[in-house]
Amino acid sequence: MKKTVSYKQAQITDDYDVILIGSGPGALVTAAALAKKGSRCLLLERHYAPGGYTHVFKRKRYEWDVGVHYVGEVMRPNSLLSRLFRYVSDGSLEWADMGDVYDRIRFGDEVYDFVRGRAAWLDRMKSYFPANEDVRALDQYVALVTDASRQARGFFAEKAVPDFVSTLAGRRMRRGFMKYGARTTLDVLKDITSNTKLIGVLTGQFGDYGLPPSKSSFAMHAMLVRHYFNGGAYPVGGSSRIFEAIAPIIIGAGGTIVTNADVTQITHSKGKVTGVRMADGRELTAPTVISGAGVATTAHSLLDDSTAELTGLRSCLRKLENSAAHICLYLGLNGTSDELKLPKANWWYYPENYDHDDNVERYLADRNAEFPVVYTSFPSAKDPSWDTRFPDRSTVELVTLAPFEWFQPWVDKKWGKRGADYDALKQNFSDRLLQKLFELEPQLEAALDHVELSTPLSTRHFCNYEQGEIYGLEHDPNRFGTRQLRPKTRLKGFYLTGQDVATAGIGGAMVGGVLCASSILKRNLLKEVLVA
Ligand SMILES: Cc1cc2nc3c(=O)[nH]c(=O)nc-3n(C[C@H](O)[C@H](O)[C@H](O)COP(=O)(O)OP(=O)(O)OC[C@H]3O[C@@H](n4cnc5c(N)ncnc54)[C@H](O)[C@@H]3O)c2cc1C
Repeated sequence: MKKTVSYKQAQITDDYDVILIGSGPGALVTAAALAKKGSRCLLLERHYAPGGYTHVFKRKRYEWDVGVHYVGEVMRPNSLLSRLFRYVSDGSLEWADMGDVYDRIRFGDEVYDFVRGRAAWLDRMKSYFPANEDVRALDQYVALVTDASRQARGFFAEKAVPDFVSTLAGRRMRRGFMKYGARTTLDVLKDITSNTKLIGVLTGQFGDYGLPPSKSSFAMHAMLVRHYFNGGAYPVGGSSRIFEAIAPIIIGAGGTIVTNADVTQITHSKGKVTGVRMADGRELTAPTVISGAGVATTAHSLLDDSTAELTGLRSCLRKLENSAAHICLYLGLNGTSDELKLPKANWWYYPENYDHDDNVERYLADRNAEFPVVYTSFPSAKDPSWDTRFPDRSTVELVTLAPFEWFQPWVDKKWGKRGADYDALKQNFSDRLLQKLFELEPQLEAALDHVELSTPLSTRHFCNYEQGEIYGLEHDPNRFGTRQLRPKTRLKGFYLTGQDVATAGIGGAMVGGVLCASSILKRNLLKEVLVA
């Protein structure tokens, strides 16, 4: 089945029930859930590849994922995320287990493994930190992580309830979670320990939400840690399988997924949404419009000024920051993952200093300072179908932070033609990232075949995040206190989906997607998913 059609070739009629902007996991889940209830959905995706951050790109005989390195909870058949994937894909997506160790945290020469299973994880941490006060702190930590994650259900469910329920019960539904949401990770950890090393290790996955401990909300930290407690998994066939598995549900109900379809405006009349205007000026109409393009993009470029104010989205953005931007080095290697001894676990390389805030601050002040984090993923080792699809080759990806401002001077230049000074800056980052990798995995140097660096300008160009932000809006304490980050807006018929509605991450964006469909259908789809 052909799953997408390019905008120029598409015969788009005016009888769709719903128009969705973007085709990331949030929009896909919303569309699939609505399709299952009989709606015909039109997805308009600006990129030539569908799937949002789940898309892959190819060069020579390699393929890389851009925004899916591992997903938690999908190997447990009864977890919410497993059930949600089954619900929106009719069970057609397969996952490959990453094994007992999913993350490996390294400060200088000291290595800490994050192992699968809450009890095993706790035992392993206690073996690294055997002092009585650290053991006590670790027990308290796991209890806090578990409680914050348990409270999340009420908090997120509240986003989809009818207005009168929110007025009556909203505060109660949100309260338990906000105890954690309104505090920083560092504040909560300092209540239980003063051991800087322990804090550094416990927050060793901070790149997964993009903020060091003094800036991130503890609720986000806790949900992320809890998400991976049962291990990590990778989609068999690569991350584009996520789109391929969900699309047939949307198409089967009469929906259409259009690529190269750039929406420039959300149109409305008399307080009600009417459709969208495309970059070529064409207007497409539908009684319901959903944006999965991120709240900042939606409020800054898709809504006119007065509507952006009326919906409260502009005022909420004045209080919120964009998440960090990143650079990613994509490597192609001669040799199989086995031959090159590539692990399934991700590596997190840190400086010898365990204070992440300090490391980030030094780097932001001087881009030539040591990288505050280098996250390294080995996708070819995670995907059991890789060796059949790409024999005798393998891939590595290295990610670190890089503020948009460093690349601002080239913002108006065309992709691939940004000039020698831009290329030199990229070369500098590439060389330093490679040096880090080869220090730790020297066997890879001789196998190197292809090197390519993406910058925040690549993220902006391909995914339309204004400042190349990696995770949409920042996951700091302000975010969780912002009531406008919910599917229903004050413009009748206009809704939001994706990571900004819930949280970043494939799971977070998908929960945002199901909340959006629940809000539109006025029924609790999470309950339906839980029995799927
Ligand atoms: C480098 C990186 C690594 C990551 N690693 C992981 C990981 O290992 N595990 C995990 O769970 N999560 C990971 N994530 C996060 C995860 O990928 C995202 O949180 C999630 O994909 C966001 O989904 P979304 O539906 O909100 O939107 P997105 O996936 O961001 O999709 C939005 C889509 O909207 C389209 N769009 C924007 N403007 C328009 C317009 N005007 N017209 C038409 N279309 C438009 C964009 O082109 C894009 O395709 C990672 C992200 C990044 C960037």
